[in-house]
Amino acid sequence: PQISAAPSSQLSTATERSSSLHQPPRVPNLIGGTFVNSKSSSFIDVLNPATQEVVSQVPLTTTEEFKAAVAAAKDAFPSWRNTPVTTRQRVMLKLQELIRRDMDKLALNITTEQGKTLKDAQGDVFRGLEVVEHACGMGTLQMGEYVSNVANGIDTYSIREPLGVCAGICPFNFPAMIPLWMFPIAVTCGNTFVLKPSEKDPGASIILAELAMEAGLPKGVLNIVHGTTDIVNAICDDVDIRAISFVGSNTAGMHIYGRAAAKGKRVQSNMGAKNHAIIMPDANMNATLNALIAAGFGAAGQRCMALSTVVFVGDSKLWEGKLVESAKSLKVNSGLEPGADLGPVISKQAKERICKLIQSGVDDGARLLLDGRDIVVPGYEQGNFIGPTILTDVRTDMECYKEEIFGPVLLCMHADTFEEAIKLVNRNKYGNGASIFTSSGVAARKFQTDIEAGQVGINVPIPVPLPFFSFTGSKASFAGDLNFYGKAGVNFYTQIKTITQQWKDLPSGTGVSLAMPTSQ
Ligand code: NAD
Repeated sequence: PQISAAPSSQLSTATERSSSLHQPPRVPNLIGGTFVNSKSSSFIDVLNPATQEVVSQVPLTTTEEFKAAVAAAKDAFPSWRNTPVTTRQRVMLKLQELIRRDMDKLALNITTEQGKTLKDAQGDVFRGLEVVEHACGMGTLQMGEYVSNVANGIDTYSIREPLGVCAGICPFNFPAMIPLWMFPIAVTCGNTFVLKPSEKDPGASIILAELAMEAGLPKGVLNIVHGTTDIVNAICDDVDIRAISFVGSNTAGMHIYGRAAAKGKRVQSNMGAKNHAIIMPDANMNATLNALIAAGFGAAGQRCMALSTVVFVGDSKLWEGKLVESAKSLKVNSGLEPGADLGPVISKQAKERICKLIQSGVDDGARLLLDGRDIVVPGYEQGNFIGPTILTDVRTDMECYKEEIFGPVLLCMHADTFEEAIKLVNRNKYGNGASIFTSSGVAARKFQTDIEAGQVGINVPIPVPLPFFSFTGSKASFAGDLNFYGKAGVNFYTQIKTITQQWKDLPSGTGVSLAMPTSQ
Protein backbone atom coordinates (compact mmCIF):
# COMPACT_ATOMS: atom_id res chain seq x y z
CA PRO A 1 0.00 0.00 0.00
CA GLN A 2 0.92 3.60 -0.55
CA ILE A 3 2.71 4.98 2.50
CA SER A 4 2.06 8.51 3.56
CA ALA A 5 1.93 10.24 6.90
CA ALA A 6 -1.48 10.93 8.37
CA PRO A 7 -2.34 14.49 9.34
CA SER A 8 -1.10 14.69 12.90
CA SER A 9 -4.25 16.22 14.44
CA GLN A 10 -6.10 12.90 14.42
CA LEU A 11 -3.40 10.91 16.21
CA SER A 12 -2.84 10.61 19.91
CA THR A 13 0.03 12.68 21.24
CA ALA A 14 1.89 9.48 22.10
CA THR A 15 1.56 8.10 18.56
CA GLU A 16 2.51 11.45 17.05
CA ARG A 17 5.69 11.46 19.13
CA SER A 18 6.76 8.24 17.46
CA SER A 19 6.42 9.83 13.99
CA SER A 20 9.78 11.61 14.35
CA LEU A 21 11.42 8.18 14.78
CA HIS A 22 9.24 6.02 12.57
CA GLN A 23 7.31 6.71 9.44
CA PRO A 24 4.46 5.83 9.53
CA PRO A 25 4.13 6.47 13.26
CA ARG A 26 3.85 3.52 15.61
CA VAL A 27 1.05 3.10 18.10
CA PRO A 28 2.54 2.72 21.59
CA ASN A 29 1.60 0.36 24.37
CA LEU A 30 0.67 1.89 27.71
CA ILE A 31 2.49 0.15 30.54
CA GLY A 32 2.54 1.41 34.12
CA GLY A 33 1.56 4.94 33.15
CA THR A 34 4.07 5.34 30.32
CA PHE A 35 3.41 5.20 26.61
CA VAL A 36 6.20 3.03 25.22
CA ASN A 37 6.97 1.86 21.71
CA SER A 38 7.01 -1.90 21.43
CA LYS A 39 10.33 -3.68 20.82
CA SER A 40 8.45 -6.12 18.62
CA SER A 41 9.74 -6.81 15.14
CA SER A 42 6.19 -7.40 13.86
CA PHE A 43 3.78 -4.56 13.11
CA ILE A 44 0.43 -4.38 11.34
CA ASP A 45 -0.49 -1.42 9.13
CA VAL A 46 -3.55 0.52 10.26
CA LEU A 47 -5.15 1.52 6.96
CA ASN A 48 -7.56 4.33 6.21
CA PRO A 49 -10.43 2.35 4.64
CA ALA A 50 -11.39 5.25 2.35
CA THR A 51 -7.89 5.62 0.85
CA GLN A 52 -5.64 2.69 1.90
CA GLU A 53 -3.18 5.21 3.33
CA VAL A 54 -1.18 3.81 6.24
CA VAL A 55 -2.30 5.86 9.23
CA SER A 56 0.00 4.15 11.72
CA GLN A 57 1.45 0.78 12.59
CA VAL A 58 0.33 -1.31 15.51
CA PRO A 59 2.72 -3.77 17.18
CA LEU A 60 2.29 -7.42 17.96
CA THR A 61 3.26 -6.74 21.57
CA THR A 62 5.92 -9.09 22.91
CA THR A 63 5.34 -11.56 25.73
CA GLU A 64 7.67 -9.57 28.02
CA GLU A 65 5.75 -6.35 27.34
CA PHE A 66 2.44 -8.10 27.97
CA LYS A 67 3.74 -9.49 31.26
CA ALA A 68 4.99 -6.03 32.22
CA ALA A 69 1.51 -4.58 31.56
CA VAL A 70 -0.18 -7.20 33.74
CA ALA A 71 2.46 -6.73 36.45
CA ALA A 72 1.89 -2.95 36.38
CA ALA A 73 -1.87 -3.51 36.75
CA LYS A 74 -1.29 -5.98 39.59
CA ASP A 75 1.06 -3.56 41.39
CA ALA A 76 -1.39 -0.68 41.04
CA PHE A 77 -4.33 -2.68 42.42
CA PRO A 78 -3.78 -2.58 46.23
CA SER A 79 -3.59 1.19 46.43
CA TRP A 80 -6.30 1.81 43.80
CA ARG A 81 -8.81 -0.53 45.46
CA ASN A 82 -8.25 1.37 48.72
CA THR A 83 -8.71 4.75 47.07
CA PRO A 84 -12.08 6.16 48.18
CA VAL A 85 -14.87 5.61 45.67
CA THR A 86 -15.51 9.37 45.66
CA THR A 87 -11.95 9.93 44.41
CA ARG A 88 -12.35 7.24 41.75
CA GLN A 89 -15.64 8.83 40.67
CA ARG A 90 -13.96 12.23 40.43
CA VAL A 91 -11.48 10.84 37.90
CA MET A 92 -14.46 9.83 35.77
CA LEU A 93 -16.07 13.22 36.27
CA LYS A 94 -12.92 14.81 34.88
CA LEU A 95 -12.63 12.19 32.12
CA GLN A 96 -16.12 12.96 30.82
CA GLU A 97 -15.17 16.65 30.63
CA LEU A 98 -11.98 15.84 28.72
CA ILE A 99 -13.78 13.52 26.29
CA ARG A 100 -16.19 16.37 25.51
CA ARG A 101 -13.23 18.73 25.03
CA ASP A 102 -11.52 16.32 22.58
CA MET A 103 -14.67 14.99 20.91
CA ASP A 104 -13.63 16.31 17.47
CA LYS A 105 -10.15 14.82 17.68
CA LEU A 106 -11.57 11.45 18.72
CA ALA A 107 -14.17 11.54 15.95
CA LEU A 108 -11.56 12.45 13.33
CA ASN A 109 -9.36 9.59 14.45
CA ILE A 110 -12.30 7.16 14.25
CA THR A 111 -13.31 8.32 10.77
CA THR A 112 -9.71 8.05 9.57
CA GLU A 113 -9.08 4.56 10.95
CA GLN A 114 -12.56 3.03 10.88
CA GLY A 115 -14.25 4.83 7.99
CA LYS A 116 -17.64 5.85 9.46
CA THR A 117 -18.88 9.39 8.86
CA LEU A 118 -17.73 12.13 11.23
CA LYS A 119 -21.24 12.56 12.61
CA ASP A 120 -21.52 8.83 13.24
CA ALA A 121 -18.06 8.86 14.84
CA GLN A 122 -19.25 11.58 17.23
CA GLY A 123 -22.15 9.28 18.14
CA ASP A 124 -19.66 6.46 18.77
CA VAL A 125 -17.81 8.68 21.26
CA PHE A 126 -21.01 10.04 22.79
CA ARG A 127 -22.50 6.62 23.54
CA GLY A 128 -19.24 5.74 25.33
CA LEU A 129 -19.21 9.07 27.12
CA GLU A 130 -22.59 8.18 28.64
CA VAL A 131 -20.99 5.15 30.30
CA VAL A 132 -18.30 7.41 31.80
CA GLU A 133 -21.07 9.69 33.11
CA HIS A 134 -22.80 6.64 34.59
CA ALA A 135 -19.59 5.54 36.32
CA CYS A 136 -19.62 8.90 38.16
CA GLY A 137 -22.38 7.43 40.36
CA MET A 138 -20.37 4.35 41.35
CA GLY A 139 -20.76 4.99 45.08
CA THR A 140 -24.45 4.20 44.75
CA LEU A 141 -24.03 1.50 42.11
CA GLN A 142 -21.52 -0.45 44.17
CA MET A 143 -23.46 -0.27 47.42
CA GLY A 144 -23.76 -3.40 49.46
CA GLU A 145 -26.68 -4.76 51.49
CA TYR A 146 -27.34 -4.93 55.22
CA VAL A 147 -29.78 -6.86 57.37
CA SER A 148 -29.72 -5.96 60.99
CA ASN A 149 -30.26 -8.53 63.75
CA VAL A 150 -30.51 -11.69 61.64
CA ALA A 151 -30.12 -13.39 65.01
CA ASN A 152 -29.95 -11.86 68.42
CA GLY A 153 -27.04 -9.37 68.33
CA ILE A 154 -25.94 -10.54 64.91
CA ASP A 155 -26.01 -8.50 61.68
CA THR A 156 -25.19 -9.65 58.17
CA TYR A 157 -24.00 -7.42 55.39
CA SER A 158 -22.45 -7.82 51.99
CA ILE A 159 -19.97 -5.62 50.19
CA ARG A 160 -19.03 -5.54 46.54
CA GLU A 161 -15.29 -5.65 46.15
CA PRO A 162 -13.23 -5.25 43.00
CA LEU A 163 -11.75 -8.41 41.47
CA GLY A 164 -8.21 -7.31 40.71
CA VAL A 165 -6.75 -7.15 37.20
CA CYS A 166 -9.41 -7.25 34.48
CA ALA A 167 -8.94 -7.21 30.71
CA GLY A 168 -10.90 -6.01 27.69
CA ILE A 169 -10.67 -7.22 24.08
CA CYS A 170 -12.31 -4.94 21.51
CA PRO A 171 -13.75 -5.15 17.97
CA PHE A 172 -13.14 -2.67 15.17
CA ASN A 173 -16.64 -1.27 14.73
CA PHE A 174 -16.91 1.09 17.73
CA PRO A 175 -13.34 2.19 18.50
CA ALA A 176 -14.44 4.54 21.31
CA MET A 177 -17.79 3.26 22.61
CA ILE A 178 -16.69 -0.30 23.31
CA PRO A 179 -13.47 0.45 25.21
CA LEU A 180 -15.67 2.89 27.17
CA TRP A 181 -18.18 0.11 27.93
CA MET A 182 -15.30 -1.64 29.66
CA PHE A 183 -12.58 0.24 31.50
CA PRO A 184 -14.57 3.13 33.08
CA ILE A 185 -16.87 0.71 34.93
CA ALA A 186 -14.02 -1.69 35.77
CA VAL A 187 -11.64 0.91 37.19
CA THR A 188 -14.29 2.94 39.03
CA CYS A 189 -15.23 -0.30 40.82
CA GLY A 190 -11.59 -0.36 42.00
CA ASN A 191 -10.10 -2.82 39.49
CA THR A 192 -7.06 -2.25 37.34
CA PHE A 193 -7.24 -2.96 33.63
CA VAL A 194 -5.40 -4.23 30.57
CA LEU A 195 -7.08 -3.16 27.32
CA LYS A 196 -6.46 -4.81 23.94
CA PRO A 197 -7.97 -2.54 21.27
CA SER A 198 -8.82 -3.78 17.79
CA GLU A 199 -5.65 -3.97 15.72
CA LYS A 200 -7.63 -2.35 12.88
CA ASP A 201 -8.30 0.95 14.68
CA PRO A 202 -6.36 1.29 17.93
CA GLY A 203 -6.06 5.09 17.83
CA ALA A 204 -9.17 6.07 19.79
CA SER A 205 -8.20 3.78 22.70
CA ILE A 206 -4.83 5.52 22.96
CA ILE A 207 -6.43 8.98 22.92
CA LEU A 208 -8.92 7.86 25.59
CA ALA A 209 -6.08 6.49 27.72
CA GLU A 210 -4.23 9.81 27.42
CA LEU A 211 -7.36 11.57 28.60
CA ALA A 212 -7.79 9.12 31.49
CA MET A 213 -4.21 9.82 32.62
CA GLU A 214 -4.82 13.56 32.27
CA ALA A 215 -7.97 13.12 34.36
CA GLY A 216 -5.84 11.70 37.16
CA LEU A 217 -6.05 7.95 36.75
CA PRO A 218 -2.96 6.70 38.61
CA LYS A 219 -0.16 4.90 36.80
CA GLY A 220 -0.80 1.23 36.10
CA VAL A 221 -4.57 1.40 36.65
CA LEU A 222 -5.15 1.35 32.87
CA ASN A 223 -2.68 -0.38 30.56
CA ILE A 224 -2.88 -1.02 26.82
CA VAL A 225 -1.31 -3.80 24.78
CA HIS A 226 -1.76 -4.48 21.07
CA GLY A 227 -1.85 -7.54 18.90
CA THR A 228 -4.11 -10.30 17.66
CA THR A 229 -4.62 -13.97 18.50
CA ASP A 230 -1.40 -14.51 20.47
CA ILE A 231 -1.97 -11.62 22.84
CA VAL A 232 -5.62 -12.62 23.25
CA ASN A 233 -4.54 -16.14 24.20
CA ALA A 234 -2.00 -14.71 26.63
CA ILE A 235 -4.83 -12.70 28.25
CA CYS A 236 -6.99 -15.84 28.52
CA ASP A 237 -4.17 -17.84 30.11
CA ASP A 238 -2.66 -15.29 32.49
CA VAL A 239 -3.16 -16.30 36.12
CA ASP A 240 -3.22 -12.70 37.34
CA ILE A 241 -6.15 -11.66 35.13
CA ARG A 242 -9.45 -12.32 36.87
CA ALA A 243 -12.07 -11.29 34.31
CA ILE A 244 -12.33 -10.64 30.58
CA SER A 245 -14.78 -8.44 28.71
CA PHE A 246 -14.95 -9.34 25.03
CA VAL A 247 -16.89 -7.83 22.14
CA GLY A 248 -16.51 -9.18 18.60
CA SER A 249 -17.26 -12.16 16.39
CA ASN A 250 -18.56 -15.55 17.52
CA THR A 251 -15.40 -17.34 16.40
CA ALA A 252 -13.18 -15.24 18.64
CA GLY A 253 -15.77 -14.83 21.42
CA MET A 254 -16.52 -18.52 21.94
CA HIS A 255 -12.82 -19.34 21.82
CA ILE A 256 -12.09 -16.72 24.49
CA TYR A 257 -15.09 -17.75 26.60
CA GLY A 258 -13.98 -21.40 26.62
CA ARG A 259 -10.27 -20.82 27.08
CA ALA A 260 -10.56 -18.18 29.79
CA ALA A 261 -13.33 -20.00 31.70
CA ALA A 262 -11.15 -23.12 31.74
CA LYS A 263 -8.62 -21.00 33.63
CA GLY A 264 -11.30 -19.97 36.13
CA LYS A 265 -11.92 -16.47 34.81
CA ARG A 266 -15.18 -14.56 34.53
CA VAL A 267 -16.04 -13.75 30.93
CA GLN A 268 -18.71 -11.54 29.40
CA SER A 269 -18.73 -12.06 25.64
CA ASN A 270 -20.87 -9.96 23.31
CA MET A 271 -20.87 -11.46 19.83
CA GLY A 272 -22.46 -11.50 16.39
CA ALA A 273 -25.99 -10.64 15.37
CA LYS A 274 -28.65 -10.98 12.75
CA ASN A 275 -31.25 -8.46 13.86
CA HIS A 276 -34.73 -8.74 12.36
CA ALA A 277 -37.48 -6.18 12.01
CA ILE A 278 -41.08 -7.34 11.63
CA ILE A 279 -43.14 -4.86 9.62
CA MET A 280 -46.89 -5.00 10.16
CA PRO A 281 -49.17 -3.56 7.46
CA ASP A 282 -50.65 -1.14 10.04
CA ALA A 283 -47.28 0.52 10.75
CA ASN A 284 -46.61 4.16 9.91
CA MET A 285 -45.02 3.66 6.50
CA ASN A 286 -42.72 6.68 6.29
CA ALA A 287 -41.40 6.42 9.82
CA THR A 288 -40.83 2.68 9.35
CA LEU A 289 -38.96 3.07 6.07
CA ASN A 290 -36.79 5.83 7.54
CA ALA A 291 -35.94 3.60 10.49
CA LEU A 292 -35.06 0.67 8.22
CA ILE A 293 -32.79 2.83 6.07
CA ALA A 294 -31.00 4.33 9.08
CA ALA A 295 -30.56 1.05 10.94
CA GLY A 296 -29.77 -1.02 7.85
CA PHE A 297 -27.22 1.23 6.20
CA GLY A 298 -25.87 3.51 8.96
CA ALA A 299 -22.17 2.86 9.67
CA ALA A 300 -22.25 0.85 6.40
CA GLY A 301 -24.12 -1.89 8.29
CA GLN A 302 -21.16 -2.48 10.60
CA ARG A 303 -23.10 -2.24 13.84
CA CYS A 304 -23.98 -5.21 15.98
CA MET A 305 -27.33 -3.45 16.31
CA ALA A 306 -27.82 -3.01 12.57
CA LEU A 307 -31.21 -4.14 11.31
CA SER A 308 -30.05 -6.53 8.62
CA THR A 309 -33.21 -8.52 7.97
CA VAL A 310 -36.71 -7.20 7.31
CA VAL A 311 -39.74 -9.46 7.54
CA PHE A 312 -42.67 -7.86 5.76
CA VAL A 313 -46.00 -9.24 7.00
CA GLY A 314 -48.86 -9.40 4.48
CA ASP A 315 -49.32 -6.28 2.36
CA SER A 316 -46.44 -4.37 3.90
CA LYS A 317 -44.29 -6.10 1.27
CA LEU A 318 -45.67 -3.53 -1.19
CA TRP A 319 -43.36 -1.00 0.54
CA GLU A 320 -40.23 -2.66 -0.85
CA GLY A 321 -40.19 -0.38 -3.89
CA LYS A 322 -40.20 2.73 -1.70
CA LEU A 323 -37.45 1.21 0.47
CA VAL A 324 -35.28 0.77 -2.63
CA GLU A 325 -35.94 4.35 -3.81
CA SER A 326 -34.99 5.70 -0.43
CA ALA A 327 -31.81 3.57 -0.24
CA LYS A 328 -30.78 4.78 -3.70
CA SER A 329 -30.71 8.36 -2.49
CA LEU A 330 -28.05 7.70 0.17
CA LYS A 331 -24.64 9.26 -0.43
CA VAL A 332 -21.69 6.91 -0.22
CA ASN A 333 -18.44 8.76 0.34
CA SER A 334 -15.41 9.13 2.55
CA GLY A 335 -16.64 9.74 6.08
CA LEU A 336 -14.75 13.04 6.06
CA GLU A 337 -16.80 14.45 3.18
CA PRO A 338 -19.75 16.63 4.18
CA GLY A 339 -23.07 15.03 3.34
CA ALA A 340 -21.76 11.45 3.36
CA ASP A 341 -24.40 9.02 4.64
CA LEU A 342 -22.22 5.96 4.69
CA GLY A 343 -18.50 5.43 4.43
CA PRO A 344 -16.40 2.42 3.41
CA VAL A 345 -16.32 -0.97 5.11
CA ILE A 346 -13.30 -1.71 7.24
CA SER A 347 -11.05 -3.64 4.83
CA LYS A 348 -10.63 -5.06 1.34
CA GLN A 349 -11.17 -8.54 2.83
CA ALA A 350 -14.42 -7.41 4.47
CA LYS A 351 -15.61 -5.98 1.14
CA GLU A 352 -14.76 -9.24 -0.66
CA ARG A 353 -16.58 -11.27 1.97
CA ILE A 354 -19.69 -9.09 1.81
CA CYS A 355 -19.75 -9.17 -2.01
CA LYS A 356 -19.40 -12.96 -1.95
CA LEU A 357 -22.37 -13.27 0.41
CA ILE A 358 -24.46 -10.99 -1.83
CA GLN A 359 -23.56 -13.18 -4.83
CA SER A 360 -24.38 -16.34 -2.90
CA GLY A 361 -27.84 -14.89 -2.23
CA VAL A 362 -28.35 -14.25 -5.94
CA ASP A 363 -27.08 -17.75 -6.81
CA ASP A 364 -29.48 -19.24 -4.26
CA GLY A 365 -32.46 -17.50 -5.88
CA ALA A 366 -32.85 -14.20 -4.02
CA ARG A 367 -33.69 -11.13 -6.14
CA LEU A 368 -31.23 -8.25 -6.10
CA LEU A 369 -33.36 -5.09 -5.93
CA LEU A 370 -30.38 -2.80 -5.41
CA ASP A 371 -26.74 -3.70 -6.07
CA GLY A 372 -24.04 -1.55 -4.44
CA ARG A 373 -21.07 -3.75 -5.28
CA ASP A 374 -19.66 -1.82 -8.24
CA ILE A 375 -19.77 1.60 -6.73
CA VAL A 376 -16.79 3.91 -7.40
CA VAL A 377 -16.42 7.03 -5.26
CA PRO A 378 -14.66 9.82 -7.20
CA GLY A 379 -11.48 10.88 -5.42
CA TYR A 380 -11.54 7.71 -3.30
CA GLU A 381 -11.16 5.04 -5.96
CA GLN A 382 -9.11 2.84 -3.62
CA GLY A 383 -11.71 2.90 -0.84
CA ASN A 384 -13.54 -0.23 0.36
CA PHE A 385 -16.94 1.13 -0.60
CA ILE A 386 -20.14 -0.85 -1.05
CA GLY A 387 -23.34 1.01 -1.79
CA PRO A 388 -26.65 0.12 -0.16
CA THR A 389 -27.71 -3.31 -1.36
CA ILE A 390 -31.14 -4.94 -1.02
CA LEU A 391 -31.95 -8.60 -1.60
CA THR A 392 -35.51 -9.88 -1.49
CA ASP A 393 -37.24 -13.28 -1.50
CA VAL A 394 -34.54 -14.39 0.92
CA ARG A 395 -35.07 -17.78 2.56
CA THR A 396 -33.72 -19.10 5.85
CA ASP A 397 -31.64 -21.82 4.16
CA MET A 398 -29.57 -19.30 2.19
CA GLU A 399 -25.94 -18.61 3.15
CA CYS A 400 -26.60 -14.85 3.07
CA TYR A 401 -29.29 -15.36 5.74
CA LYS A 402 -27.36 -17.77 7.93
CA GLU A 403 -24.18 -15.68 8.06
CA GLU A 404 -23.81 -12.27 9.68
CA ILE A 405 -23.03 -10.02 6.68
CA PHE A 406 -21.84 -6.93 8.59
CA GLY A 407 -22.14 -4.63 5.58
CA PRO A 408 -24.70 -2.28 3.98
CA VAL A 409 -26.95 -5.12 2.88
CA LEU A 410 -30.61 -5.43 3.77
CA LEU A 411 -32.31 -8.82 3.37
CA CYS A 412 -36.07 -8.81 2.79
CA MET A 413 -38.32 -11.74 3.61
CA HIS A 414 -42.08 -12.21 3.63
CA ALA A 415 -44.53 -13.80 6.03
CA ASP A 416 -48.28 -14.23 5.57
CA THR A 417 -49.04 -13.86 9.25
CA PHE A 418 -47.58 -12.22 12.34
CA GLU A 419 -47.22 -15.62 14.07
CA GLU A 420 -45.23 -16.96 11.13
CA ALA A 421 -42.94 -13.92 11.29
CA ILE A 422 -42.28 -14.40 15.01
CA LYS A 423 -41.48 -18.10 14.45
CA LEU A 424 -39.06 -17.16 11.68
CA VAL A 425 -37.18 -14.69 13.89
CA ASN A 426 -37.07 -17.10 16.84
CA ARG A 427 -35.56 -19.87 14.69
CA ASN A 428 -32.49 -17.69 14.05
CA LYS A 429 -29.56 -18.64 16.28
CA TYR A 430 -28.67 -15.05 17.18
CA GLY A 431 -30.54 -13.05 19.80
CA ASN A 432 -28.99 -9.61 19.95
CA GLY A 433 -32.13 -7.69 19.09
CA ALA A 434 -35.40 -7.58 17.16
CA SER A 435 -37.89 -4.84 16.36
CA ILE A 436 -41.52 -4.55 15.42
CA PHE A 437 -43.15 -1.68 13.57
CA THR A 438 -46.89 -1.52 14.13
CA SER A 439 -49.68 0.72 15.36
CA SER A 440 -51.26 -2.15 17.27
CA GLY A 441 -50.55 -2.29 20.98
CA VAL A 442 -51.81 -5.85 21.00
CA ALA A 443 -49.27 -6.93 18.37
CA ALA A 444 -46.49 -4.99 20.08
CA ARG A 445 -47.23 -6.62 23.42
CA LYS A 446 -47.36 -10.10 21.89
CA PHE A 447 -44.04 -9.38 20.16
CA GLN A 448 -42.42 -8.22 23.39
CA THR A 449 -43.55 -11.41 25.12
CA ASP A 450 -42.94 -14.02 22.44
CA ILE A 451 -39.78 -12.79 20.73
CA GLU A 452 -36.54 -14.53 21.68
CA ALA A 453 -34.10 -11.66 21.55
CA GLY A 454 -32.29 -9.77 24.27
CA GLN A 455 -33.12 -6.27 23.08
CA VAL A 456 -36.52 -5.39 21.72
CA GLY A 457 -37.51 -2.36 19.71
CA ILE A 458 -41.14 -1.27 19.36
CA ASN A 459 -41.43 1.28 16.55
CA VAL A 460 -37.70 1.93 16.97
CA PRO A 461 -34.80 0.11 15.40
CA ILE A 462 -32.69 -1.88 17.87
CA PRO A 463 -31.51 0.61 20.47
CA VAL A 464 -28.21 0.35 22.32
CA PRO A 465 -29.63 0.71 25.84
CA LEU A 466 -28.47 3.63 27.95
CA PRO A 467 -25.96 2.78 30.67
CA PHE A 468 -28.44 2.60 33.57
CA PHE A 469 -29.80 -0.48 31.76
CA SER A 470 -27.49 -3.18 30.39
CA PHE A 471 -26.66 -4.33 26.88
CA THR A 472 -28.66 -7.53 26.97
CA GLY A 473 -27.92 -9.63 23.90
CA SER A 474 -28.93 -13.29 24.24
CA LYS A 475 -28.76 -16.71 22.54
CA ALA A 476 -25.67 -16.97 20.30
CA SER A 477 -25.08 -13.21 20.57
CA PHE A 478 -23.89 -13.46 24.18
CA ALA A 479 -21.95 -15.82 26.42
CA GLY A 480 -21.63 -15.33 30.15
CA ASP A 481 -24.33 -14.26 32.56
CA LEU A 482 -23.52 -10.70 33.55
CA ASN A 483 -24.04 -8.24 30.72
CA PHE A 484 -22.13 -5.09 29.90
CA TYR A 485 -22.70 -1.93 31.97
CA GLY A 486 -25.76 -1.07 34.08
CA LYS A 487 -26.21 -3.03 37.33
CA ALA A 488 -25.02 -6.23 35.64
CA GLY A 489 -21.78 -4.53 34.55
CA VAL A 490 -21.00 -3.49 38.12
CA ASN A 491 -21.77 -7.03 39.29
CA PHE A 492 -19.44 -8.41 36.62
CA TYR A 493 -16.50 -6.33 37.83
CA THR A 494 -17.11 -6.99 41.54
CA GLN A 495 -17.35 -9.99 43.83
CA ILE A 496 -19.56 -10.19 46.88
CA LYS A 497 -18.14 -10.62 50.35
CA THR A 498 -20.74 -11.42 53.01
CA ILE A 499 -19.95 -10.55 56.60
CA THR A 500 -21.74 -11.75 59.70
CA GLN A 501 -20.87 -9.87 62.88
CA GLN A 502 -21.87 -10.34 66.47
CA TRP A 503 -21.71 -7.51 68.99
CA LYS A 504 -23.49 -8.23 72.24
CA ASP A 505 -22.83 -8.69 75.87
CA LEU A 506 -22.33 -12.42 76.13
CA PRO A 507 -23.62 -13.91 79.38
CA SER A 508 -20.92 -15.79 81.19
CA GLY A 509 -21.34 -19.44 81.91
CA THR A 510 -23.25 -20.48 78.79
CA GLY A 511 -22.22 -23.86 77.50
CA VAL A 512 -20.98 -24.81 74.05
CA SER A 513 -23.34 -26.24 71.45
CA LEU A 514 -22.07 -28.16 68.46
CA ALA A 515 -25.40 -28.14 66.66
CA MET A 516 -25.69 -26.21 63.38
CA PRO A 517 -26.26 -22.54 64.37
CA THR A 518 -29.77 -21.39 63.53
CA SER A 519 -31.49 -18.10 64.18
CA GLN A 520 -34.59 -19.31 65.95
P1 NAD B 1 -13.26 -10.01 15.66
O1 NAD B 1 -13.79 -11.15 16.46
O2 NAD B 1 -12.57 -10.31 14.38
O3 NAD B 1 -12.18 -9.21 16.55
C1 NAD B 1 -12.48 -8.82 17.87
C2 NAD B 1 -11.23 -8.94 18.72
O4 NAD B 1 -10.84 -10.30 18.84
C3 NAD B 1 -10.04 -8.19 18.14
O5 NAD B 1 -9.40 -7.51 19.17
C4 NAD B 1 -9.19 -9.29 17.53
O6 NAD B 1 -7.81 -9.00 17.62
C5 NAD B 1 -9.52 -10.51 18.37
N1 NAD B 1 -9.56 -11.76 17.58
C6 NAD B 1 -10.00 -11.93 16.32
N2 NAD B 1 -9.95 -13.22 15.96
C7 NAD B 1 -9.45 -13.90 17.02
C8 NAD B 1 -9.18 -15.28 17.28
N3 NAD B 1 -9.38 -16.21 16.37
N4 NAD B 1 -8.70 -15.60 18.48
C9 NAD B 1 -8.48 -14.68 19.43
N5 NAD B 1 -8.72 -13.35 19.24
C10 NAD B 1 -9.21 -12.97 18.06
O7 NAD B 1 -14.45 -8.99 15.47
P2 NAD B 1 -14.46 -7.65 14.59
O8 NAD B 1 -14.47 -8.04 13.16
O9 NAD B 1 -13.44 -6.72 15.07
O10 NAD B 1 -15.89 -7.05 15.01
C11 NAD B 1 -17.09 -7.37 14.35
C12 NAD B 1 -17.90 -8.38 15.13
O11 NAD B 1 -18.16 -7.87 16.42
C13 NAD B 1 -19.26 -8.64 14.52
O12 NAD B 1 -19.54 -10.01 14.61
C14 NAD B 1 -20.22 -7.85 15.40
O13 NAD B 1 -21.55 -8.32 15.44
C15 NAD B 1 -19.54 -8.01 16.72
N6 NAD B 1 -19.96 -6.98 17.64
C16 NAD B 1 -20.83 -7.32 18.62
C17 NAD B 1 -21.27 -6.37 19.52
C18 NAD B 1 -22.23 -6.72 20.61
O14 NAD B 1 -22.35 -5.95 21.55
N7 NAD B 1 -22.90 -7.86 20.55
C19 NAD B 1 -20.82 -5.05 19.41
C20 NAD B 1 -19.92 -4.74 18.40
C21 NAD B 1 -19.50 -5.72 17.53
